[in-house]
Amino acid sequence: MNADAERKMQFLFALRSKGVTDARVLSAMEEIDRGPFIRGLFAGRAYEDMPLPIACGQTISQPSVVGLMTQALQISARDKVLEVGTGSGYQAAILSKLARRVYTVDRHARLVREARDIFDALNLTNITAITGDGSFGLPDQAPFDRILVTAAAEDPPGPLLAQLKIGGIMVVPVGQSDAVQSLIRVRKHETGLEYDEMRPVRFVPLVEGLGKDA
Ligand code: SAH
Repeated sequence: MNADAERKMQFLFALRSKGVTDARVLSAMEEIDRGPFIRGLFAGRAYEDMPLPIACGQTISQPSVVGLMTQALQISARDKVLEVGTGSGYQAAILSKLARRVYTVDRHARLVREARDIFDALNLTNITAITGDGSFGLPDQAPFDRILVTAAAEDPPGPLLAQLKIGGIMVVPVGQSDAVQSLIRVRKHETGLEYDEMRPVRFVPLVEGLGKDA
C-alpha cells in the first residue's frame, strides 16, 4: 500500500474507533482531504486526530469531533444547513457532501475569504460563506433543517433556535469559554425543545460582533 492510502486508512480507522460509524459521514470524510484546510507549520499534521491552530487565533476541530457532530445532525440530501464558525472551512466542506445547501458564517472576513477559495478549488458549489456575527443566524435564509455551531456558547443562541425548522436538529457546544463544555443536541418538536447531552468537548468561544479584519 502506498503512503497516501495507508494514511487515509489510519485516518478512517481513528474516526471509527472514536464512534463515527455512519457510512455516509465516513465517506464524506474520506472524500474531503483535510490537508488543504491547514496551512503553514501544522500542515504536516493534517491527518492526525487533533485540533490544530489556523489563522486569526482559531482552531480547526479534531476530525473525530467533526465526525461525531456531523453524525449527530442526521443530515438528509434535501437539507438546508447553517454552520456558525466557518474557521478553515473543513466542517462546511463535509456538510456540503451530505446536504443540499450549506450556509456558513464566520466573524473573521479573512477566514471566510480563505475558505471560499478552497471551496472554489474543490468545486463545492453548494456552500455560501458569509462574514457576519453568526449568533444571530441568517434571517434571510431561515428556517434551516439543521444548524451546527462550532464555537462554544453559554447557552444555545435564541435566534438560532428560532431559525430551526420544526423537526430540525441543532448541535452546539455549550459552556463557559475555558471551563468544561458539553456538546448538546437540540431537537425542535411542535411541542417544544428536547435537549440531550452528548459528550464533553473543548471549542473556542462564540464571540459577539465582527473580527478586526472584517
Ligand atoms: N468549523 C471550523 C472550526 C471553527 S473554530 C472548521 O471546520 O475549521 C470556531 C470559529 O467560530 C472561529 O473561526 C471563530 O472566528 C468563529 N466564531 C466565533 N464567534 C463567532 C460568531 N459570533 N459568529 C460567527 N463566527 C464566530
